[in-house]
Amino acid sequence: MDTRARVASLLSKEISTYRTRTPRSMELYSRASAAMPLGVASSFQVAEPYPVYLSHGSGSTVEDIDGNRYIDYHNGFGTMVVGHAHPAIQAAITRAAASGTHFACTTDEVVRLAEELNRRFGMEQVRFCSTGTEATMDAVRLARAAAGRDLVVKVEAAYHGHHDALMYSVRSTLDALERAEDAWAVPSSRGIPSGIAAYTKTVPFNDVAALERLFDAYPEQIGAVIVEPIMMNAGIILPAPGYLEAVKELCRARGAVLIFDEVKTGVTVAPGGATELFGVQPDLICLAKAIGGGTPIGAFGGTAAVMSELGKGVAGQGTFNGNPLSVAASLATLTEVLTPAAYEHLAALGTRLATGCAKVLEHAGIAAHTTDLGCKGSITFSSRPLARYDDYRHVDGSLFDAYWFWMVNRGIFVTPGKEEQWTISVQHTDEDIDRTIEMLEAYCAEVA
Ligand code: PLP
Repeated sequence: MDTRARVASLLSKEISTYRTRTPRSMELYSRASAAMPLGVASSFQVAEPYPVYLSHGSGSTVEDIDGNRYIDYHNGFGTMVVGHAHPAIQAAITRAAASGTHFACTTDEVVRLAEELNRRFGMEQVRFCSTGTEATMDAVRLARAAAGRDLVVKVEAAYHGHHDALMYSVRSTLDALERAEDAWAVPSSRGIPSGIAAYTKTVPFNDVAALERLFDAYPEQIGAVIVEPIMMNAGIILPAPGYLEAVKELCRARGAVLIFDEVKTGVTVAPGGATELFGVQPDLICLAKAIGGGTPIGAFGGTAAVMSELGKGVAGQGTFNGNPLSVAASLATLTEVLTPAAYEHLAALGTRLATGCAKVLEHAGIAAHTTDLGCKGSITFSSRPLARYDDYRHVDGSLFDAYWFWMVNRGIFVTPGKEEQWTISVQHTDEDIDRTIEMLEAYCAEVA
């Protein structure tokens, strides 16, 4: 049997093991499907043959409703860098709950949180919201208003949340369309008016010349350029040396506002996110996920010049902005849990995992490369690092699919989707990492 056939046969064996291990999840799936579209709370939770339904989490692990325990690398799509049920987060939420869960009035803690985020990210001012989607939606509107121009540029295949302006040229649509010429103009959801496409232009990642051509083609019309400084939804794609600097310089020279979407990279790849890691300061930064320690919170901020537009007729509202529960959890996350020592721990674990995985993959002769970004990292089943979506398109998904079921069946909760990455929490241990590498080694032995 060749590798491809072995992987296919292993996948079907592992899916039947999965069914045997998770009968209660299957039962709940059928009830859930009657009560909720697709049986889940978000379409990102859809899975074949049905999703695992969880009951609780503790430390570095989660448990499903069948009582199976997993070392968690999914971590709520990159949110739970604090790990599950962290005592400091529990205490902060409990304190906040005892003194009023919502006011829609700004408290002293909101101001302290704003100051901490500004300090970490080199921002002058910040505005809170509740999700990453709200952060990028509000930032794009603000940028357009500040520049006085309507067009927004995004990177091909990048995901920035589920609002109309940026739901073009998203990886899922591009994959489905097999790269039709005008794939970028097809929204990744029905229900978006077709006219919106006229306002959203796309360029490949790591391609400064393409961005320059776009500025030439639409002189004085591009108001905003939004970029994930490290692409995190098409595998992990690192910026080429000098790329972010060149994008910043082009935006400055052509009068567009540069937005970094740090919803996934913020406070994870470094205390001050990719902005700190690469030393390139954009005009605006979008944050969410890990900043909240597992509570819904988002933020966007940057220069006072741009942010002051919020006082000049640009909308920036939300009933739950600055909610006391989320703010308390977020402050505890940033000031008590994600300390310099915690980042050292995460860096050591990240390197242990990435190098351990790289070693066993290489030993087995499987074409793959790993990425090590502290608590974030990934295995991509492709022999070379990715530079843009075009490279990611050629990654064989079958090795990942079999790997996902193999690991889950052995108590390792890998983030679903070959485009995703792992997230390590401060509560993970060397033993967790070593067990994970051991399970990967066993998988490699099976398919190599
Ligand atoms: N931006 C990026 C880079 C993301 O990965 C996501 C979500 O995965 C979002 C924005 C949207 O965030 P949310 O799901 O909190 O709305």
